Amino acid sequence: MQQVTPTRHQKLERLLEVSRMLHQAVDIEPFLQMLANSACELTQSEAASVFLFEEETGLLKFVASPRSHSEAIKRIRVPLEYSIAGRAYTQERPIVINDASLEPLVYKPVDQMLHFETRSILAAPIRYGSNPLGVIETINKLGNAHYTEEDVTILETLAGYAAIALFNTALIEETINATNEIQDLEKKKSDFVAITSHELRTPLGLILGHATFLQELATDEQTRQQLEVIVRSANRLKDIIESLSNLDSETPDKRRIRRQALDINKLVSQVSHSFDGLAKQKGIKLQVDTAEQALLVKGDAEKIAIALGNLVDNAVAFTNPGGRVRVSTERLPGFVKVSVVDNGIGIPPGELQRIFDRFYQVESHYTRRHGGMGLGLSVAKVMIEMHGGQIWAESVEGRGSNFSFLLPLGTTKSLTLTR
Ligand code: ADP
Repeated sequence: MQQVTPTRHQKLERLLEVSRMLHQAVDIEPFLQMLANSACELTQSEAASVFLFEEETGLLKFVASPRSHSEAIKRIRVPLEYSIAGRAYTQERPIVINDASLEPLVYKPVDQMLHFETRSILAAPIRYGSNPLGVIETINKLGNAHYTEEDVTILETLAGYAAIALFNTALIEETINATNEIQDLEKKKSDFVAITSHELRTPLGLILGHATFLQELATDEQTRQQLEVIVRSANRLKDIIESLSNLDSETPDKRRIRRQALDINKLVSQVSHSFDGLAKQKGIKLQVDTAEQALLVKGDAEKIAIALGNLVDNAVAFTNPGGRVRVSTERLPGFVKVSVVDNGIGIPPGELQRIFDRFYQVESHYTRRHGGMGLGLSVAKVMIEMHGGQIWAESVEGRGSNFSFLLPLGTTKSLTLTR
C-alpha cells in the first residue's frame, strides 16, 4: 500500500488536535493509545508503544501498543538495563537507533514473542518535572528511512502530552480518594456525636431530675446553694450536648424543619427575656425592642429560638459589666431582620469571617475566660440557613458587635397563626 507522507503543516495540525484532547483525557488508557497511534502516523513508523514504570516490579510495562499485539504485549515487562526504552527512561533523553541489528540493547524477547523484527527505534522519556514516568517509542521508520530531528521533536512533544495527561489523572484520583476519605470521616464524626450525645443525655437527665427534686426538699440555705451549683452546671452540660447534636450536619437539611406560622416578635421577646437573670447577674442592661403587632414567618420556632439564644448568650458573655445588649426586629421588604447589638469587647477584623466556623473561637480555648465550644454561631448559621435565611456579623474591636439574621416573611394570606 502506498504510504502518504503528511506535510509539515498537517503534522502541526495533528499535534494541535492531540493537545486539544488533553482536557478530555480522564480515561488515561484510550488517550495513551491515541498518542501511540499519532506517534506512528506522524513519524511514519510501523508501530508505536507507550510504557509506564511499574513501582512493584521496577520494570517498564506496556500500556499502549499496536492494536494487533495489544493483548499479548500487555503481559510483557521490559527491563530498564537491557532495553532502548529503559535507556531513554534512565538517561532521561531521546534515543535514536537506526540499525537495530548493530545495537545489543534492543530487547529481543518482545520481537520473538510477537514474531516481529525491530529494525529501527526512536524512544523519548515521559517526564513530569523531574519525575520520570515512562517512555513513548516508535519502531521501524517506513521505507527503511532514518529517524530525523523532526521525528525526535514530534515524539518529545507527544511525550510531554502523555506526562500532563498522567499527572492530571493522578490528581483526579487523589482528589476522589481525598473526598471519599473526608466523607468517611464526616460520617464517623456524625455517628460519634450522635451516639455520644444520646448516651450522655440519659444520665444527665437523671442528675438534673434528682438534683432539682432535692433542691425543692432542701431545708437549709447552704444545701440549697450547693444543689443550685449542681443544677446550673448540669444545665450547662445539657446545652453543650444540645449544641453538639444540633451540629451533626454542615449542610442544612431543609426536610428536618417543622414549619409553622409563628410571630417572630413574640419569639424574640420570649427568648431575649429568658436571659434577663443572666444579664442582671453580670450588670448588663438587656433591652428588647419588638413591635406589639405580629410579624409572621413560617418556620421552626425551636430552631430559630436556638439560633437567637446563642446570639444573645454570646452578647451577654462578651460584654463587660455596665455594658448594654439590644435585641430588635425590623420589617424589610420580604424579610424580617433580627439584630443583637452589644457594646462589648468586639471582634478583630481578621476573625470576622471565621467565627461562624465550627469549633472556632477568637481566644484560645485554654486561655479564655468564657465557657463554650465554639459551636454556638455555627449552630445558629445552620438553623437560619435551613429556613432560607442569612446570618452575618459586623464588629469593631473594643467597641462592640452587631449580629443580624434575615428570615423570609410569610404573606399574611398564606399564614395563619397557630397558638
Ligand atoms: P462559643 O460558644 O465558644 O462562644 P460561638 O460559635 O458562639 O462559640 O462563637 C465563636 C466565637 O466568636 C466566640 O468564641 C467569640 O470569640 C466570638 N464571638 C461571638 N459572639 C461575640 C460577641 N457578641 N462579641 C465578641 N465576640 C463574639
